Amino acid sequence: MRVDSVSRVSFSGKIIDSHGHIGKWGSTMFEPESLDIFTNSTLLNGDEVEKIIASNSSCIDNENILDELVGNKQMLEYSYRNPKIAPLAVCQPKLTKGDTTKIEQLLTENQNKFVGFKFHPKCMELPADDASYDNYMKLAKKYKLPCLFHSDKTYDVVYGDGSIGQRCEYSRPEQIYSLAKRHSDVPVILAHMGGNEGDNAQKAIDVIIESIEKGDANLYADISWVNADTVDKPDIVKAIKRLQNTSKGDKTDRLLFGTDAPLGEFGHGGINGVSPKEAYSNLVVNIKKSIKDAFNEQEADEIIDKIFYKNAKNLFFKDLNDTSEVSKNVKKSVLSLKNAAIALGIVGLAGAMYKFLNHKFASQNKKG
Ligand SMILES: [Zn+2]
Repeated sequence: MRVDSVSRVSFSGKIIDSHGHIGKWGSTMFEPESLDIFTNSTLLNGDEVEKIIASNSSCIDNENILDELVGNKQMLEYSYRNPKIAPLAVCQPKLTKGDTTKIEQLLTENQNKFVGFKFHPKCMELPADDASYDNYMKLAKKYKLPCLFHSDKTYDVVYGDGSIGQRCEYSRPEQIYSLAKRHSDVPVILAHMGGNEGDNAQKAIDVIIESIEKGDANLYADISWVNADTVDKPDIVKAIKRLQNTSKGDKTDRLLFGTDAPLGEFGHGGINGVSPKEAYSNLVVNIKKSIKDAFNEQEADEIIDKIFYKNAKNLFFKDLNDTSEVSKNVKKSVLSLKNAAIALGIVGLAGAMYKFLNHKFASQNKKG
């Protein structure tokens, strides 16, 4: 059988997706089933999505916004339907002016149900370093909850069609870092790693590395939409290499896989004939392949295991006692003969699938 970098990718691995949604986004309503499709059977490459950490976008989208109690309770109900969905509580410091009464009521009435907080400074139009966030961060510390912040562009971007994407006024990594420094015990995740690619993505890593060197905040990043327009994922690879070599040692525990599903190509009918599940599977395979191409086999397997699974497990589910699953991702060498034969079948199939999907991806229109 052909052995190349694709078939060496850790297939049949477990995945925790650190960034998902349910609810209204713009004119679209994403029902809970929008996430079920990723968790109710394996991905096309054999990977299994064990958890999606999700928030209610009806509490984020400004139009007819649901408040902290109503919207987050709805999210909790969704998570009861599908235990693979782990809920984040959306916080609205602009609307509450920093009054955390409702959020604390939510947490005390539903002990140990929410795995973290979600903030969207850009949608709220409230800069991430504003004092209205501070009470929420204190609550996060009290309940040991990581905080996922939408992060966005530090620099203007000129797109292919000549239009300009302006730097964000509210959600820049340095603004989130300012807040995180005031609450240095609280894990803070820069969603979208600062805004997708190039200098903006590396800015998020600059800030994370600065915080590591100075020891003054506890920052992470999720890689949703990073290098979304290309099969290759150069900024993810660069981020890994930079985090491997900090003065404090290997800090690749700070990167988390995430998708933002079911938004964009991961929702409803998908885009350009590619179904949401295909798009999700493609993304997983393409990120894994980029890592495989950039690192030796053992190192790549370890990085993949951390980014797709272990890092999020340690961050969000540390208290859950579970010893059976963590090492399943890469330890193929201990498979029984029977399992090995099954695994070989999967790998061969996945290699062919990858070529097919990659061809499809390349032939579709990419956004500008
Ligand atoms: Zn999101």
